[in-house]
Amino acid sequence: MGLRTFRGGVHPDDGKDLSKAKPTKELLPVGDLFFPLSQHIGAPATPIVSVGDTVLAGQKIAEAGGFVSAPIFSSVSGTVKAIEPRRVAVGDMVNSIVIENDGNYLECGFEETDDVTKLTNEEIIEKIKEAGVVGMGGAGFPTHVKLSPKEPDKIDYIIANCAECEPFLTSDYRRMVEEPEKLVEGMRIILQLFKHATGCFGIEDNKPEAIQKLMELTKDEPRMQVVPLMTKYPQGGERQLIKAVTDREINSKMLPADAGCIVDNVETIVAVYNAVKFGRPLTDRIFTVTGDAVMEPRNFKIKIGTNFSELLEAAGGLKNPAKKMIAGGPMMGFALFGTDIPTTKTTSALLCMTVDQVSQYEETACINCGRCVDACPEGLIPSRLADYAKHGQKENFEKWYGLECIECGSCSFGCPARRPLAQAIKTMKKQVLQDKKNKK
Ligand code: SF4
Ligand code: SF4
Repeated sequence: MGLRTFRGGVHPDDGKDLSKAKPTKELLPVGDLFFPLSQHIGAPATPIVSVGDTVLAGQKIAEAGGFVSAPIFSSVSGTVKAIEPRRVAVGDMVNSIVIENDGNYLECGFEETDDVTKLTNEEIIEKIKEAGVVGMGGAGFPTHVKLSPKEPDKIDYIIANCAECEPFLTSDYRRMVEEPEKLVEGMRIILQLFKHATGCFGIEDNKPEAIQKLMELTKDEPRMQVVPLMTKYPQGGERQLIKAVTDREINSKMLPADAGCIVDNVETIVAVYNAVKFGRPLTDRIFTVTGDAVMEPRNFKIKIGTNFSELLEAAGGLKNPAKKMIAGGPMMGFALFGTDIPTTKTTSALLCMTVDQVSQYEETACINCGRCVDACPEGLIPSRLADYAKHGQKENFEKWYGLECIECGSCSFGCPARRPLAQAIKTMKKQVLQDKKNKK
């Protein structure tokens, strides 16, 4: 039987060899740290510290601004220097708490739980909520909300998104080969919440070492299974992962829970483990610094809030001028103007490339080759949707399922005419969704 996968998709050069073999290095920041109050989906957090206050590592500095929100914690000890707008990776200015790092990394105390199996579901959810855990794969959806579906008894699968299908990124891979037991323990805690569910580790077959380690660790776990998947982008897309692992399908109007599934990425599940077992808030993560312009591409265990420029420096800086810098991977990441921006709970990588693949070529006319249609994992007609976007035809855009686009970039990737299809569709999608919101 062939490996499980989904329809469509593309095979970009994965670029993972640059950083995947090097052990993760712990990095203690030197400069100031910045904590944007919006680094999750939902209401921004509200500061509970003032300028001049001293704080410890692990201390809460901002309270959740509602149920769909998350608190924020300082990752170092130091003094609150300012609360002011700062530029973040997606380009927006976001109100942020600035901490002057005292370089001592003094932590506040955390409460460990001896026997997690004795905790009630409510206690587990409360610990996850209080630790500020959110989806760390990029979405930033508060995890305590995701783990509180309306009908928990109807959840059949907890899927660990171990695909890491974005080219160049290797942070999840390093976590899986260096500390797979934390991932398995995190899964065990989540399964405690859902009595009828099976825990599946969906992982692409280009990570044999990680597959082997997870298989070894779960061989005597009747409620867990490792599901090797075909290496294909965007295998880690939520809908594509659900399809490949369970053969169930969802669309933009459904939640994974509607199909009996909950999907969490590797770092998120590890953060659940740290929160529930050790009472540790979310203050650090694995982060990849890579690309052919970087002197020593590798992964770092970072304190969230560390500036991108410090991370680049720790990787030896640039060996060649970077024509393009991206927060995240080349397919779904955000182009950066500079590196004076903070890492957050959801930023996983800095990619510095000597060639800008996008601006290198001129756009030409569509030759109707159909490659974008074959590549689209949602079964859309990207060439047509991009035409509607170009001409502002919102009704047609919606009629032809433009809102189902997951913004994966597969259509642009293979287009011989170099049309910026995904970009046009993404912009139009935003406009249509905004119109709908305005009408409410
Ligand atoms: S139309 Fe959207 S979902 Fe389809 S390939 Fe393009 S970006 Fe991906
Ligand atoms: S891949 Fe590009 S050239 Fe081919 S049909 Fe799609 S838009 Fe046209």
